[in-house]
Amino acid sequence: MKRPRIGVFKFTSCDGCQLSLLNLEDELLDFVGLFQVAYFREATDRPLRGHLDIALVEGSVSTERQRSHVVAVRERTRYLVTVGACATSGGLQALRNWADIDDYKNAVYPSPAIIETLPCSTPISDHVYVDYELWGCPVSSDELSETLGSFLLDKRPGIPGYSLCMECKRKGIPCLLIARSAPCLGPVTRAGCGVLCPSLERPCYGCFGPKEGANIDSLLNVFRKSGLSHHDCALLLDKMNTSAYRKARTREGPP
Ligand code: SF4
Ligand code: SF4
Repeated sequence: MKRPRIGVFKFTSCDGCQLSLLNLEDELLDFVGLFQVAYFREATDRPLRGHLDIALVEGSVSTERQRSHVVAVRERTRYLVTVGACATSGGLQALRNWADIDDYKNAVYPSPAIIETLPCSTPISDHVYVDYELWGCPVSSDELSETLGSFLLDKRPGIPGYSLCMECKRKGIPCLLIARSAPCLGPVTRAGCGVLCPSLERPCYGCFGPKEGANIDSLLNVFRKSGLSHHDCALLLDKMNTSAYRKARTREGPP
């Protein structure tokens, strides 16, 4: 059987999701045997040639050059999968979408005039058709492995669409929201991380992004009743999936 050609691409991101792929450890040798790694700058300097069966894309679109690059990747790829919060929802860097980009540039860089950037950081799906999205900051190695395996079997990946609370209950972890009035985003966040934070008695801060149909305003009302200010609620949502949580809310503007 001809091995499918895979490419791994990076846009604006920290490389953490690509590392999740390299961290597959037990499956990595199988992965290299089953796929032809046609492009993966984190692992090899092989130049990109020809068409791809699958492209894993990390990072958001933050520059004009990236915008044309992602269109070029899409044109040569059969299936395009975004990996992680930056590629899927714009990432932490999308905080600037609600601010003046020049204020940021002047505050951060000693020579702001040489910085080429778009005013907004946007997810890959704002620019090209995306076949499948994997959330997380970083993406889960298990979900990556499941997605690649499903591609080989020509089936839909078995990635949960329910909330983190379901996973939490299954593991028998005492609820931080109920027992301690802790501001846990579990009820509105996608499952998939293995309940990392609540299992360490820390509230979820939403790195897997909002689950579909999440009633975020209702959860924020619960947080407010337990003493959180409007400002604190905004800080909870404004992290690596700020754009997705804001869009998923039933009303616009700060809480
Ligand atoms: S601790 Fe958080 S994730 Fe777990 S059940 Fe409670 S609200 Fe849901
Ligand atoms: S519990 Fe929430 S913040 Fe922690 S890893 Fe999971 S999704 Fe991310």
